[in-house]
Amino acid sequence: MDGSSFHHRRATDPQRSNGADLFRKRVMVTGGAGFLGSHLCEILLGQGHDVLCVDNYYTGRRSNIEHLFSNPRFEAMRHDITNPLFVEVDEIFNLACPVSPVHYQFDPVQTLKTSVHGAINMLGLAKRTKAKIFQASTSEVYGDPLVHPQPETYWGHVNTMGPRSCYDEGKRAAETLFFDYNRQHGVEVRVARIFNTYGPRMHPNDGRVVSNFVMQALAGQDITLYGEGSQTRSFCYVDDLLDGFLKLMNNDQNFIGPVNLGNPVEFSIKELAAEILDLTGSRSKMVFQPLPGDDPKQRKPDITLAREVLGWEPRIALRQGLVRTIDYFDHLMREKIAV
Ligand code: NAD
Ligand code: UDP
Repeated sequence: MDGSSFHHRRATDPQRSNGADLFRKRVMVTGGAGFLGSHLCEILLGQGHDVLCVDNYYTGRRSNIEHLFSNPRFEAMRHDITNPLFVEVDEIFNLACPVSPVHYQFDPVQTLKTSVHGAINMLGLAKRTKAKIFQASTSEVYGDPLVHPQPETYWGHVNTMGPRSCYDEGKRAAETLFFDYNRQHGVEVRVARIFNTYGPRMHPNDGRVVSNFVMQALAGQDITLYGEGSQTRSFCYVDDLLDGFLKLMNNDQNFIGPVNLGNPVEFSIKELAAEILDLTGSRSKMVFQPLPGDDPKQRKPDITLAREVLGWEPRIALRQGLVRTIDYFDHLMREKIAV
């Protein structure tokens, strides 16, 4: 790591004294070995930046990033963001946090620490290095919403002590920290509220609905609908979402958010299952299982703000994104890649 640009301050870094490097930033992605993070690392490298992926591999996988190891501008560091980190960076994307309910409920205290202590550590790093910092917040800050669709002005309906609270309240506290570091210390922040996103590199066993249904359909197993499958979600394809991340991070109008990023087309979980059965040609049957505690009944983003301020909206329809996602999982299963 000694020769790494992430250990030099900008002024004394010989690799960065060249004018041609002026637009080459040192970007850190926490949670960079996860689903969204690995795609983001890839895009940032493609734009010519130095990328430091920081991950404790709790839900992330080396296989998501190993194709990047040959790039000399890419570095991966095993680190848990609940501990302080001292590196030199220009920008931070803070994505580290388990997101599937199965994973974040496995160790709820660690989930809260990741959101809260992790935010404090990363904001402290941003303050010291004067880096711009992006927070991957979530539609879960709205809880089981009483307002539909959800605009950013809605304060939410969240249980403080239920099975989803460690994630929801952790992300809410993290937002508070981001806005307080901005007001109190002048840290340049960006906060995106992400709605359900899917695509290649989701963990096949992570328990989220798209990965579950696709894996079950491909394996000819029963499709497990929780409750009656009438609850709704709005599914955004990963490429659309990351386009939104970069538009928000690069926005030069001092727009810090929070801003909803998600696809406003709403489906019931039963409709999603039917689409996946149709696209895979699977003969799997739908079976009904108990609805988990505090499962939101409906969710759909109001993306008026993202449209107006960022000129962003999703372009990839659910069917189109599902085809690409099914291809990915199909490949994983055929190659018997370790999951
Ligand atoms: P993911 O589980 O694939 O990725 C999270 C990554 O963070 C993993 O690589 C994991 O190993 C890492 N991580 C977890 N705890 C860590 C810690 N303490 N220190 C360092 N690394 C740690 O999930 P994802 O879908 O890529 O989500 C990324 C971010 O986006 C998360 O913060 C999540 O809350 C947010 N988000 C995602 C969605 C979605 O639908 N994908 C929706 C809302 C919010
Ligand atoms: N769900 C389901 N079957 C599954 C996995 C999830 O019916 O095998 C439901 C779950 O109860 C929820 C929705 O699908 O209502 C989305 O679940 P996910 O865990 O993907 O995300 P979140 O609930 O956090 O939006």
